[in-house]
Amino acid sequence: MNRIFNFSAGPANLPLPVLEQARDELLDWQGRGLSVMEDSHRGRAFVELAERSEQDLRALLSIPDDYAVLFMQGGATLQFATIPMTLAKPEQGVDYLITGHWGKKAASEAAKLRPMRVVADGEALGYRSVPAMEDWETGADAAYLHYTANETLHGLEIDPPPAAGYAPLVCDMSSTLLSRPIPVERFGLIYACAQKNIGPAGVTVVIISPDLIERVPQDTPLALNYRKIAAAGSMLNTPATFPWYMASLVFRWVADQGGLAGMAERNRRKADLLYGHIDGSDFYANLVDPNWRSWMNVPFTLAEPSLDAKFLETAEQQGLYGLKGHRAVGGMRASIYNAMPEAGVRALVSFMEEFERKA
Ligand code: PMP
Repeated sequence: MNRIFNFSAGPANLPLPVLEQARDELLDWQGRGLSVMEDSHRGRAFVELAERSEQDLRALLSIPDDYAVLFMQGGATLQFATIPMTLAKPEQGVDYLITGHWGKKAASEAAKLRPMRVVADGEALGYRSVPAMEDWETGADAAYLHYTANETLHGLEIDPPPAAGYAPLVCDMSSTLLSRPIPVERFGLIYACAQKNIGPAGVTVVIISPDLIERVPQDTPLALNYRKIAAAGSMLNTPATFPWYMASLVFRWVADQGGLAGMAERNRRKADLLYGHIDGSDFYANLVDPNWRSWMNVPFTLAEPSLDAKFLETAEQQGLYGLKGHRAVGGMRASIYNAMPEAGVRALVSFMEEFERKA
């Protein structure tokens, strides 16, 4: 077996024990003579998986009992629209803090549906820092304040959540959920696509407070209706059974790593190693304000951009894959989500050292 280290921003690495278990169970899941993909989502075996996975996620994140946990489809992108459409009244303002590419996208989707107000935009700071809260222009009637906990392209992470306090916090945690403990009770709604820390693409986790779920209008289309989806245990229609199953294995794996405290310790060590190497070199640079640097996505540039292509090619030859930065930002980006082992980050750092020496 020749597995590479995949530094791509998502779909990302999955934990090896999870892939091995899925492989072992593929043809005959729970002695049922079929794969989980072929089994009915209404059958007892899958319903038990669904319930257990929700309990496991609740335990990992210490989700308050009165919050609903949903396993939806449509990715984070569908949440960009569902949130303004169902949590704000037609004329009600919705507030967006923009700290990078994904926040901007979420805001532009919201603007199609509701009076969207940009509270602050870090563009003038090159999305390398978060605008100071004193400068935010908040709206008195805001249905919620949306922000992106981790900007996957720009490598900027907001943790702990802002203490804005004037409206419920709604947060895109696509590339940060399960990487460290979070105070769920401080949020009105949290959502995350799966393909970073949760499982394969296809399932989207939504965690929603009782106050916010009550806002959903009765006539909301079914596939967007948090209230009805919650009442149906996320089985209003056929769920993405295989990604959900994979996520259930990932939740168990995270618990085995010491839960989110264990994950956080490991993620901090990995990030420190990589930033430490970048900061200690004149050849590599990461310009994000150290107060806001992401543990999950580490963009960096080479002092000599003409060497970018050679860097990527040589890295791939050594099994270090997916290091090209997003086209909107350029340079390199190492995504080091939960399933990236420390050995992967060490291999990357050794490679960077060697490349710099030969450059
Ligand atoms: N938000 C963030 C922070 C992301 O990183 C991504 C995907 N990279 C998305 C939203 C979009 O997710 P999806 O492709 O599942 O719609």
